[in-house]
Amino acid sequence: MAPRPAGRRPCIFCGAPTALTKEHFTPQWMHPLLPPLSDTHRVQMRTTDYGGATRRRLRQGGVRSIQMKCVCANCNGVWMSGLEEAARTAITRLVRGERHNIDAESLLLVQQWCAMKVFVADAEVPAASVATPQDREAFRATRTIPDYLRIRLGQTAGAGWASQFFRQTMSNSPNERPRFQVLVAGMGQLLVVATLDRTGGAVDLFAQTQLAVVLPSLNAEVAWPPNPLPLTDQDATAITTTLDQLKANLAGIIH
Ligand SMILES: [Zn+2]
Repeated sequence: MAPRPAGRRPCIFCGAPTALTKEHFTPQWMHPLLPPLSDTHRVQMRTTDYGGATRRRLRQGGVRSIQMKCVCANCNGVWMSGLEEAARTAITRLVRGERHNIDAESLLLVQQWCAMKVFVADAEVPAASVATPQDREAFRATRTIPDYLRIRLGQTAGAGWASQFFRQTMSNSPNERPRFQVLVAGMGQLLVVATLDRTGGAVDLFAQTQLAVVLPSLNAEVAWPPNPLPLTDQDATAITTTLDQLKANLAGIIH
């Protein structure tokens, strides 16, 4: 099938076949909280087959340089910008690293905001997305989050992860749609570690004490930061190598 022109792709959330708008991954209100664009901040994409090689794309610019074109003006301008504004206070406190308790109301907004970002990042290349169009539509309509999306948050101390984006997908073969994706985004002092796992949930790769599980939420409130010891740049980078390290083992687990 020949690829459609970029402007004719349907909106990933509502399916409208209208022109899509190009938007920053990070909202404009966050940009003053992030370090300036620099060549030390990186964007990495990896695609891996369980039995095969990992393909990498790497570029400079960091998380705030990322723009994605996959949603329509109506979704972008109405419910998505509404959620950006609703979550602004709660996310800002995490980006700034403020010590506090994330209360139940803020936790819900944090979950929804992160889920929206994961859906967008996941579907930017529709053929390689893990989430289904039905699940994106359900999120748009009712904010329902599928149970295969897991979100952990950590606090980082290093300057290197203050603006970074990492995404890795895994599939059984190069011709198969990926069924596992990890997204790691560093925004100021906030590190988001999200997994979309449609393999049956056989693996839980990122269980570690410096990350708080916020989806599925274990408690009504989350103490912030989750650990007195923040993640170093090395800790955060180590998270991004987890899948490659475990690739050989995963091949035997996931079918
Ligand atoms: Zn739309």
